[in-house]
Amino acid sequence: MPAPLALAPADRPAPAFLRGGPKKLLIGGDWVPARSGRTFDTVDPTTEQVLTGVAFAGPEDVDLAVAAARRAFEDPSWAAVTPYQRSRILLQIADVVEANAEELATLESLDMGAPLYLSRWFVAHSVEVIRHYAGWPTKIYGQTAPSEPDQFHYTLRRPLGVVAGITGWNGPLLQAVWKLGPALATGNALILKPAQQSPLTTLRLGELLQTTDLPAGVVGILTGDGLVTGEAVVAHDGVDKVSFTGSTAVGKHILRTSTGNLKRVTLELGGKSPNIVFADADLKAAAAGAALGFCAGTGQGCVAGSRIFVEDSVREEFGHLLADQLAGYTMGDPFHPDTHMGPLASRAHYERVTSYFDIAREEGARLRLGGELADNPGLFVPPTVIDQVTNDMRVSREEIFGPVATVMSFADEAQALRLANESDYGLASAVWTTDLSRAHRLAEGLQAGTVWVNTYGRMTAGTVPFGGYKQSGIGREHGTQVIDAYTETKTVMVQL
Ligand code: NAD
Repeated sequence: MPAPLALAPADRPAPAFLRGGPKKLLIGGDWVPARSGRTFDTVDPTTEQVLTGVAFAGPEDVDLAVAAARRAFEDPSWAAVTPYQRSRILLQIADVVEANAEELATLESLDMGAPLYLSRWFVAHSVEVIRHYAGWPTKIYGQTAPSEPDQFHYTLRRPLGVVAGITGWNGPLLQAVWKLGPALATGNALILKPAQQSPLTTLRLGELLQTTDLPAGVVGILTGDGLVTGEAVVAHDGVDKVSFTGSTAVGKHILRTSTGNLKRVTLELGGKSPNIVFADADLKAAAAGAALGFCAGTGQGCVAGSRIFVEDSVREEFGHLLADQLAGYTMGDPFHPDTHMGPLASRAHYERVTSYFDIAREEGARLRLGGELADNPGLFVPPTVIDQVTNDMRVSREEIFGPVATVMSFADEAQALRLANESDYGLASAVWTTDLSRAHRLAEGLQAGTVWVNTYGRMTAGTVPFGGYKQSGIGREHGTQVIDAYTETKTVMVQL
C-alpha cells in the first residue's frame, strides 16, 4: 500500500476556535461548563492528537437544556415570530455559515478526517439546505375540510415543541443542518447532540447562530457521549421529538427509550446499499460510480454502495475498470491537496473496519484488492474489494462503514433484484443500464429509499425525500414529508 500523503505539522491548520480551554455547552443562549465539570477530548484522527477538551453533559445539564428550550419555544420572541421573519432568520443563518465556510470546513476535516474538498462540499451543501428551509415557513398550509353549512372545519400545522437532533460523526455539520432547517422553519426549539468523535462544527455553528436574530435559547447544544448524554436526552419527557442519524443498533434502542412520553421519532440509520451494473451500461462510468460509491468519505457514508453486483458477461472487464478507478484514490492528510481519502474517524472505528478483513477470509471470501494496512501511523485503510462472497456472509450483511465493497455477479435481471433486496437494510441503491424500461422496473422493485440510475450518491439540498426502507430507518428527511415530521396536525371544528 502506498504511504499516505503527509503534511509537516507546521503546514496543518490551527484554527483560533481550538484555543481557550474546553468547549462549553450552549444552554438558554449561554455557554456554560457541564455541572459536573467533566470534559472529554476530541481527537484529530490524522495525527491522533487531542484537538481540544469539550464539556461532557450529564443528566442535570440535559434537564437544564430541555427547560431552557421549552422556555424559548413558548416565548413570544419565537412563538409569535411571523413566517416571513422565520424565513429571514434562516437566510441570515445561511449567510453566516457561508461567510465562515472555510473555518467550518477546516474544523470538520480536523475533527473527523474528511479531505478538505469534501468538508468544503459539506459546508456548501449545508448552506443550500438552510436556504431551502428558509423558503418553507411561508408555505406551510393547513387544509379546509368539507363540512355542514353551519360548520367550518379546517386543519392547522403546529410545531411539536422541543426537538432533539442527535447526529453521527461522519457528516456532523451537514447532519445538524438537516435537523436545524426543518426544526426552525416549523417553529420548534432544537437541542443538538453531536457525536462525541466530532462535535466541533456543531459548536461553532452555535456561536454563529448567536450573531443572527435567532432568539437566544431556541437552539441548544449538548456535547457528550451516547450512553450518558444521548440516553438522557432520549429518555427526557420534556423532549417532544427525536430526529436521529446514526447506527441501526442505536436507532432501535432510541425507539424503545422514547416510549415514556411517546416522542415522535425519525430514524436515519445504516445501509448496505446495492450498486447493480448491467452489461449494457457505460461500464467506465459505472466503474467510476462504483468506486465513488464506496470510497467517498473513506466509505463512511450511510449511502455507501458497499455491495456491487455485476452481470456475469462483463464481470472481468468491469473488474479491471474498477481497479483502474481505485488506483486513483490517494490516501493521506485531509489537508494535502492530492488526498482523495482521509483516515477513518477514530481508532475504535479503524479496528472495527479492519477486523472485517479477517472475517472475510474466515468466511471463505477473497480479498481481491486492498485489504493491506500501512506501516505508517494513522488510521488509513485502502479501497478494498472482496469477492467470492455470498449473501449470507457477514461481509455482505453487515455495514462495515469503511472503503470496503463486496462484488457478486448475476445472470439476469430477476436474480440481480433478488440478490440486491436480500438485506436487512434499504437506504439507497443504484442501477447502471442503458435499457430505460429495465431502469424503471428496477426503480420500482428495489427496496430502498433512494434509487439512482446511471449515477451514484447524488444529493439535493432538501428537494427530494431521504430515508430508508426496512432497518435503514423510519420516516423521511427533506421533501414535503419532513414538514409533517416536525409538526402536529390540529383539526379545528367551528359552529357558525
Ligand atoms: P452511532 O449510532 O454510534 O451514534 C450516533 C449518535 O447517537 C451519536 O451522537 C451518539 O453519541 C449517539 N448515541 C449513541 N448511543 C446512544 C444512546 N444509547 N442514546 C442516545 N444517543 C446515543 O452512529 P455513528 O457511529 O456516529 O454513525 C455511523 C452510523 O450512522 C452508520 O450506521 C451510518 O450508516 C449512520 N448514518 C445514517 C445516515 C442516514 O441519513 N441514514 C447518515 C449518516 C450516518
